[in-house]
Amino acid sequence: MHIRCWGSRGQIPVSGPEYNKYGGDTTCLEIRSNCGDLIIIDAGSGIRHLGARLLEEKKRKINLIFTHLHLDHILGLPFFGPVYDRRTLLTIYGCPFNISSFQEALHGMMQAPYFPVDLNNLPCKIHYKDIFSQSFKIGSVRIKPILLNHPNGGLGFRLEENGAVFVFLTDNELGYDLPGAQPFESYREFCEGADLLIHDAEFDKEEYVNYKAWGHSRFTDAIDLAVKAGVKRLGLFHINNKRTDRQVDDMVRESCRIIARRGASVACTAIGNAFEIQL
Ligand SMILES: [Zn+2]
Ligand SMILES: [Zn+2]
Repeated sequence: MHIRCWGSRGQIPVSGPEYNKYGGDTTCLEIRSNCGDLIIIDAGSGIRHLGARLLEEKKRKINLIFTHLHLDHILGLPFFGPVYDRRTLLTIYGCPFNISSFQEALHGMMQAPYFPVDLNNLPCKIHYKDIFSQSFKIGSVRIKPILLNHPNGGLGFRLEENGAVFVFLTDNELGYDLPGAQPFESYREFCEGADLLIHDAEFDKEEYVNYKAWGHSRFTDAIDLAVKAGVKRLGLFHINNKRTDRQVDDMVRESCRIIARRGASVACTAIGNAFEIQL
């Protein structure tokens, strides 16, 4: 499976020369299976650029999975070019936390008076699949969800194909239990043996003091999970929208020092728009 990041910023898109290296778009990941199936996770602002690429490529069968409905993970959907092409076949997967259907929840964002085009009147064909905690398959990729420790709920995913394992846990707070939270041990088991873990790393120790229970982790907690689960690579994600490129680089250096001190062999990087990997 091939993974590419189109947006990794938390809460709101940012722009400016101090964000050039890691980019300013919010969450969007593209995954291509070995058989060519396309899986997108989240429609943050990064999905706009991905949409332009898919139109060029004439890729019309699109699977879009949502972790949850917070604005930074859905705000790019109205600007995702393929939804305005009647030849697009879009399957949307999402968990209807405390609401009758995911479609209804998503529709709340894309209708008058918030947006002039109604989600239910788009030219493309959309098929909705409500997902919960059961595994499901998209093409040759098996996808297992896990509940996130996040306000209003959310899902993380473990994707497996031909022995390659990718785990994506954004908007997940380790070290503090919100209602419905999974114990740390569940997340450790979920990540075990992953070739790549991308995890929320929004805060440092000082910042976190003011944001406990907001549903995001200290980067040191993400490292702890990666080391204990024995993953090969860790990607720091949901980058704080105030964090400049230089500060992100400092965070990565500090992370590598912590990992080395623990005698672990986890490769660590921060996930930005340039991130791309074949597993
Ligand atoms: Zn978020
Ligand atoms: Zn969130």
